[in-house]
Amino acid sequence: MFLSIKNLNKHFGANHVLKNVSTNLKKGEVMSVIGPSGSGKSTFLKCINFLEYPTSGTVNLDGEFIGTDQDGKLMSEKVIHKQRKKFGMVFQNFNLFWHMNLVENIIEAPIRVLKIDRNKAIEIAEDLLKKVGLIDKRNSFPKKLSGGQQQRAAIARALAMSPEVMLFDEPTSALDPETINEVLKVIEKLAIEGMTMLIVTHEINFAKKISSKIMMLDEGVVIDDTNTNDFFNSTTNRRKYSFLNQD
Ligand code: ADP
Ligand code: MG
Repeated sequence: MFLSIKNLNKHFGANHVLKNVSTNLKKGEVMSVIGPSGSGKSTFLKCINFLEYPTSGTVNLDGEFIGTDQDGKLMSEKVIHKQRKKFGMVFQNFNLFWHMNLVENIIEAPIRVLKIDRNKAIEIAEDLLKKVGLIDKRNSFPKKLSGGQQQRAAIARALAMSPEVMLFDEPTSALDPETINEVLKVIEKLAIEGMTMLIVTHEINFAKKISSKIMMLDEGVVIDDTNTNDFFNSTTNRRKYSFLNQD
């Protein structure tokens, strides 16, 4: 398995928010994570790249343990910081730098962190802006762009770090309805190109279309984790049924 997550637990004080969450992804696989608000979806994503430290459990990417060794012993901050770069993350709220234009937004981390030469970084940024359909906005500042454009720029910025896995946390839930599709199309393109991705989303039809697997969390427990067809064809689980059939 490319990404293997075993028995993740996360406590915030007395609040036990992830309960033995395990899953596996093959390289190039796309998994959507769904579930009610507060079920632990964001925490789950953040525990994968150690933005939050899980209380217990292990994450292994392509044979390398992330954040802890196989016995759960925490690695140094420096190692964790380095490993975190293997994961690109896109949040609900864009997180672009407001004082930089799009190219500057995208080249900042590759130059500072990966020590890529500035001209090379600009070349990569322009290719990525083409990929997300924003090359004509290369010199624009985020505040001049729509939410959908900002989110596509945020995706380009994450991709500029050449991540091995992309983590999306409700990438369209802060967007106006008319710009949701342009962002979903970019994510779909990445899926087709073989990017390994975990996507927390409320867009069930989108999840159905692009994911090979679906995981449902409820109160920190994995209710189901199976291939997309089986997930939607078997609705004998009461919680899953009521979640999928709510208005
Ligand atoms: P979801 O993304 O499914 O809505 P979250 O992962 O954000 O769920 O939250 C799961 C639970 O963890 C909630 O009860 C939330 O209040 C709690 N939680 C999340 N982040 C923190 C934090 N940094 N500190 C304390 N509690 C948190
Ligand atoms: Mg969340």
